[in-house]
Amino acid sequence: MELDKMDENDWKYHGEGNKSLVVSHLQHCQVLRLLKFPSEDSAHTRQQTAEQAFRHILNIMDYSKYIMKPLLGEKYVHSGEVVRLPLDFVRELSLKVQQERPELRCDKVMDTFSGCGLCLPNLTQLPLQHLRDHRPPICVEIKPKCGFLPWSRQITKECKRKVCRFCMHQHYKLANGKWKRLSRYCPLDLFSGSKQRMYVALKNLLEEPQNNLKIFKQQPDLSELIQHLRPYFLHTNGLFNGHQPGKAVLSEFVQLICSALLSGGDSNRSGEPRKMHISEGRETKLVVDVVPQAPVSTGNPGLPKESVLSKILQVQMLDNLDIEGVYPLYKRVEQYLEEFPKERNRLQVDGPYNESFMDTVKNGLKEDDGSVEYAVGKASLVHQYRVAMTAKDCSIMITFAPCDEDEENELNLENPGFTYSVSILDLDPKPYEGVPHQYKLDSKIVNYYLRSTQALP
Ligand code: ATP
Ligand code: MG
Ligand code: MG
Repeated sequence: MELDKMDENDWKYHGEGNKSLVVSHLQHCQVLRLLKFPSEDSAHTRQQTAEQAFRHILNIMDYSKYIMKPLLGEKYVHSGEVVRLPLDFVRELSLKVQQERPELRCDKVMDTFSGCGLCLPNLTQLPLQHLRDHRPPICVEIKPKCGFLPWSRQITKECKRKVCRFCMHQHYKLANGKWKRLSRYCPLDLFSGSKQRMYVALKNLLEEPQNNLKIFKQQPDLSELIQHLRPYFLHTNGLFNGHQPGKAVLSEFVQLICSALLSGGDSNRSGEPRKMHISEGRETKLVVDVVPQAPVSTGNPGLPKESVLSKILQVQMLDNLDIEGVYPLYKRVEQYLEEFPKERNRLQVDGPYNESFMDTVKNGLKEDDGSVEYAVGKASLVHQYRVAMTAKDCSIMITFAPCDEDEENELNLENPGFTYSVSILDLDPKPYEGVPHQYKLDSKIVNYYLRSTQALP
């Protein structure tokens, strides 16, 4: 990418979340991730110097690279690089993408003042050598959310130990008009390690995706999705060129996703993406695995250790105190910082996110034997919670492409292979000041859940 010759016509709108907007390059396998701000904040943003914006994006990249990547595994995380873009380019780009943005996201505007962004590999594509097949890759993005029930002794509401946070939050979101239909997806199913339960989770995501599932090339409804998928599964179930029933197509698709989620994810961007056959994802006899009632902080033994789900779950479980346990610690650190404001830097409350921050997080993992200084000890527990929160909010991107035809054994038509890659994205640091908000939100969600379910006959 030649930064001095940037042309907005080489880029197109790709997607956005709550915090950033992403554009992809028309020819190269690259995306640019640009930050967004509340529109009423834009005057304030203008006052933020380019230097501050640069530091902010650098912090985001460092956090992904030096904190989340070592925890989640090198092969899954691509931290990208910080780029300084010409302001003309960014302004033109912002105008160009505006009409494509979904209305529900337009409460925020793209940052056109700083010229800073992140350049990342486009994870919806596979490296070019694997694209000789006429069928473009299919990409599935899953935002899995928290996959375990908390076990902290600090929890005051018993229902938190029995009903998962995502499911409770659904009731609250429905009541607040965020979504119109209740999602039947449950993260505990997805993270269970039982293929049967994972299958149910993925089917429920397909039925009501909300913002937890996105299929690139997404068709507006399931029947159109089946039409889109059919050419990828022509050979399955012995039907060559025959008309696959839609259900069978979807079922093959879901099994393929399951296999990728359970695989060792050897698919490395720099190396060869892994090959997989549908049969790997199919089990003739499904055994219902028993999920441990009280999860242990080492993850779920039902999940293969190197799988993307196991990696994410282990990091999520760094939240072993629950927000109810973390909030009082946060307040203690706050008091301390009020008294000694200069300590904010030493405790790395706003970064930098480097090895020493990582050591702080690891300190939090040690049993409190009194060897760690009081403020440092408390702050490291809060940092540990923030790391877990990032893992509860990340996305998994799985990209599949049918193997090259010449690579395939011509006689093996009933069992076509797929090349695939699995990555984790959206690994931004959660602000230190977010703790009080999380505390309030938690009690709102739980209280609403209790009220709404107790009101039922
Ligand atoms: P959230 O609201 O979930 O926190 P966010 O604002 O932090 O989202 P991202 O999730 O990082 O933003 O990016 C928004 C969307 O852009 C993603 O959901 C994904 O679809 C797409 N995207 C982000 N990074 C990449 C990438 N490297 N390759 C392809 N697509 C990407
Ligand atoms: Mg996101
Ligand atoms: Mg995010």
